[in-house]
Amino acid sequence: MITVNEHYAKLQSSYLFSTIAKKVQDYSTKNPDAQIIKLGIGDVTRALPQACITAFHAAIDEMAADQSFKGYGPEQGYGFLREAIARHDFTDRGVSIDPTDVFISDGAKCDTGNIQELFSAGIRVAVPDPVYPVYVDTNVMAGRTGFFTDGRYEHLVYLDSTEENNFLPGLPHSPVDLIYLCFPNNPTGQTATKEELKKWVDYAHEHKALILFDAAYEAFIRNDNLPHSIFEIPGAKEVAIEFRSFSKTAGFTGTRCAYTIVPEECRAFNKDGEVVHLKPLWNRRHTTKFNGVSYPVQRAAEAVFSSDGQKQVKELIDFYLENARIIRERMSVLGFSCTGGDNSPYIWIKTGQDSWSFFDLLLAEAHVVCTPGSGFGSCGEGFIRISAFNSRENVNAAMDRISGVL
Ligand SMILES: *Cc1c(COP(=O)(O)O)cnc(C)c1O
Repeated sequence: MITVNEHYAKLQSSYLFSTIAKKVQDYSTKNPDAQIIKLGIGDVTRALPQACITAFHAAIDEMAADQSFKGYGPEQGYGFLREAIARHDFTDRGVSIDPTDVFISDGAKCDTGNIQELFSAGIRVAVPDPVYPVYVDTNVMAGRTGFFTDGRYEHLVYLDSTEENNFLPGLPHSPVDLIYLCFPNNPTGQTATKEELKKWVDYAHEHKALILFDAAYEAFIRNDNLPHSIFEIPGAKEVAIEFRSFSKTAGFTGTRCAYTIVPEECRAFNKDGEVVHLKPLWNRRHTTKFNGVSYPVQRAAEAVFSSDGQKQVKELIDFYLENARIIRERMSVLGFSCTGGDNSPYIWIKTGQDSWSFFDLLLAEAHVVCTPGSGFGSCGEGFIRISAFNSRENVNAAMDRISGVL
């Protein structure tokens, strides 16, 4: 008899974005003239940088001739891209990362979801609340949690990110082995200083734990004092894996290219307490289950690091950051307390009522769609997330409308 993985039955249906879509649909049907502006979903809206497009086209032309055609490439990514990443993202910022520590993939979603395969079933896992749901659901599927009761999975350790701790969770009260962190954070937009990250690196050393650091939004950091990588913290290479993506940095959400850094030194332990390095394990998983990102996409990604590419990507992110500044400023003027939006595309707003009521209010009165914070975890209740990914015109119009009704 073929039986299913029963852990899947524990998963909560990811109702957040489908519920939003349904509410918007219902409202549009009843109010066909309403011009709805969507500031909800975390997807970019502007075209790929020209440098990427040029490289993309040239690489496709290479595929069109037998002499330059490429079949399977290295599963871990082409050397040209791994080297460009190691140099520009790390070595130039004073962090030595070997190109072979860089694993190219088709998304940070897959990588943050797949990485837990390397660890045993019995480990204790800590996740932030509110949270990017991938970290939670993949551990549920792997059987590392109990059932979902009272808004949380049993056996998971939740790291509360609240107004009281300025959305920077404290160390767990009970010991944990695996810790997911994301800065600049989705959904709160909060960033972490070096001192803040050092606290976690020290914890990981002390408790023989490992940190999974999601830096998908590092390109939005404009404050020079904030770290872009957890590897800027001394000692982090032994205890952390970092995830990055071209998705938000360079508009690659539909093109697909990301990378994971597993330093040579990075370790876990076997059941006898002996050190096991994680790089060979991840290499084995990656080469067994993945066959590489397409050559033209890797050439397009490489172009992000050219001097034209760097200028264009900066302009792209500056554009979204200006949207974020406008949203934050105008919501603040209305008396709302806001987090994020300065080194992040997300603004996390305290609503003074429950998340869905405020969502309904914005939709009905201002025809603006946001994301209810409660959809990201119980600590998100009472908050909404507004995203800066839209045109300037739409952002200004949305803020004018909100200002008119609140
Ligand atoms: C958008 C996002 C990613 C990137 O995912 P890709 O699969 O690379 O597009 C990763 N982590 C978080 C928290 C995100 O919001």
